[in-house]
Order: sequence, then C-alpha cells, then structure tokens
Amino acid sequence: MLIVALWPSHSQSVVVEIPANLVIEPSSVSVDEPGWQEVSETVNLGDNLSTVFERSGAGVSVLYKLISNDEIKKPIEKIYPGQEFVFSFDEDAVLKEVSFNESPILSYHIVLDEAQQATIDKVVRVPDIHTRFTKGTINNSLFLAGSDAGLSDNMIMQLATLFGWDIDFALDIRQGDQFSLLYEENYLDGAKLNDGAIVAAKFYNNGREVTAIRYTDSSGHTDYYSPDGNSMRKAFLRTPMDVFRISSSFNPNRKHPVLNKIVAHKGTDYAAMTGTPIKASGDGKIIKANYSATYGNVVVIQHGENIRTLYAHMSKFSKYTKVGNRIKQGQVIGYVGATGRVTGAHLHYEFQVNGVHKNPQTVKLPTAEPLPSKYRDDFDSYATNMVGQLSVFDEAFATVGNLNSE
Ligand SMILES: [Zn+2]
Repeated sequence: MLIVALWPSHSQSVVVEIPANLVIEPSSVSVDEPGWQEVSETVNLGDNLSTVFERSGAGVSVLYKLISNDEIKKPIEKIYPGQEFVFSFDEDAVLKEVSFNESPILSYHIVLDEAQQATIDKVVRVPDIHTRFTKGTINNSLFLAGSDAGLSDNMIMQLATLFGWDIDFALDIRQGDQFSLLYEENYLDGAKLNDGAIVAAKFYNNGREVTAIRYTDSSGHTDYYSPDGNSMRKAFLRTPMDVFRISSSFNPNRKHPVLNKIVAHKGTDYAAMTGTPIKASGDGKIIKANYSATYGNVVVIQHGENIRTLYAHMSKFSKYTKVGNRIKQGQVIGYVGATGRVTGAHLHYEFQVNGVHKNPQTVKLPTAEPLPSKYRDDFDSYATNMVGQLSVFDEAFATVGNLNSE
C-alpha cells in the first residue's frame, strides 16, 4: 500500500491513502438522442410497478412485455419506496430506456430496440476505499474508547471479534489498555457508504501486545493472522453462545441444586432464554444427539482424536444435528431449553480432553490452522510492511495528539 497523504481529520483519525478513482463498470452506454425526453419517477409507499409505469407515461403494456423476460423480472420486481426509476422516451413518445437502482452500488439499465425487444445490463459501482488509522485508550469500556476514537459501532464489534479470541473483554480489560488500527471505509460520491474491513490492528492489554493482520492468499482466502503467521482464531469458541450469563462454573465440589448433594459440576452453565441458538464450538463430527433423563436433549461432538464437547438441556436440535454429520465451528446445533434434570433454562457445556473434563472457561484452546507454508514468504513481507505502518502511524498520531493539545 502506498502512503500518499497524511493529515488529521476532525475525528483525529488520519487519512493514509488517497483512494483509487471511482470505477464504473461499462454497460451499454446510452446516447440520448436530441428530442428524447427523460422522466424520473420516485417510488412512493403503496406504489407497485404498474402505478410507476402508468405515472411515467410508459404504460403497463410495455411493463408486461418487460417482465415476461426473467432477466428483467427478477431485479425490477424488487421495488421499494424511495427507489428512482428513469424512463427515456424518443421524439414519438416511445419508451427506449429504463434505469433503476437496487442499492447505491447496484443499478440496472434496460434498452428497448426498434422492435421493442428489451435487453438489460447490470451496472456495478465500485466504492472508493479510504484507509484510516485511529488509536484509543480504554478508561471505561472498549465501546466508549472506540466511539471516542471515531469508530462506528460496527467497527468496534469487528475489533472486539478480532481480538475476542485472545482477550476476554469482560474479564481481561484494564484501565489504560490501548488499541490502534488501520481500517477501511467505503465511499460513494464523497459520502461514506459503509464500513470496510480492519486491515491491521494492535491491542495492548495489561502489558501484553497482540497484533492481527488481515491477509488474502493467492487462492483468495482471507483471514487474520498474527505477524508470525498463526491464525487469530482458535480451533474452539470459548463460549458456544453469543448471549448468555454464566450461572454455574466448573466446580468439582458443587452441591447439586436438584439432587441437593455433592456432585461435581463438570461443565459450565450458561443461562439464556429458551430458544437462544447454541453453536458448535469447533469443527467436528456429531457422535451423539438424543434424550437422556439427566441431560435432556444432548449433543456430543468429537473434534479430532482427543477432544469432545457436550451440550445439554436443549429445547430442540437444529436441522444439522444428526449422528454422523460433520459440523463446522459456529454452526447452530440446537437451542437453549430446560430438558432433563434442571431448575431453569440454560446450556450445560462440557469440554473433555482425552476423556478428562476441563473447565471450559479456562482450558487452553488450540489455535486454528496456521497460514499454509506455501504463502509464508509472501505473508512475511506483507506482515513486516503492515507492522511497520502501524508503528509509523502510532508515532504520527502521537504527534497529531501533541499538536492538538498545545
Ligand atoms: Zn451444568
């Protein structure tokens, strides 16, 4: 990446790259003839295609002709309020062209020939990518610090997800922790369209530093890696749900709430609403999916040779959940319930290594597959460059900060 410009913006982020020019993929370019008339129609609430075509003066018979063509029917029928249709008529008031957009980046252009035969072209606009740098210090929460650093909620979530494999944002965060990141934003006609991806990021947590670099290998696969080429992801999710509260931890000496005697608690209980999706914590094969008096609806997944995970008390299984099925990390295998011997709706989750129960909250999770060695040379030089850029901008940002504080 070429650094072209460096200047502070209002949000204290630093624009580090002048984007490539807007690219519009060529379509059949219409040359409006003299004497042609253009009519724009904005779709109102309650409109359908017929009303829009009527209002423009094109009429419905041409519309029926157009939607008899499946290529046209599919996109044109996704009509929505606020959408704009542009009709072009020749000097004899015969419809020659219709344009409409499906999204800010995707539009369609229909051309009718002398015989009123229609062809349709898809026009895709490629947004400008602006790469920005920002940095923040956590005083209260990652969310507030991210927001102060000019990051959108979406970008803060991306950052939390990226480092969530290494840092427990509920337990590990200390006041004074810092993050810095290079990230992309997509622009169209000078206005921000949406967030792009994090390019590279660094997190300083309680004295340690974690760096993540986004890398696309020559096969087109994109993932985040540490500078030494290890995946940022782990082979297992720490928790198999997104929304939960830990209601009972792993405890070899727990008094069982139903049996009222000492029964080791060999897993972690996550309280959540009945119906909350439960995800497979790692890739594996389902070796058990049945009902037991104790565990209720229970699923066991075998991961490689040594590791098994168990998910109990489900209200129901998902459609993927059948013994013998291969399952991917994050795939929904069932839903929280209160089946079996329980006092309330929760997921009971066990993590077993070679048949020995481990604490799911603290067990050291194996990392996902590292970058394949054939991409390592290319990655190494890219990673060195990105780590260097992060440092350069860290320093530049400090200077900007100092200037602002004077
Ligand atoms: Zn339990």
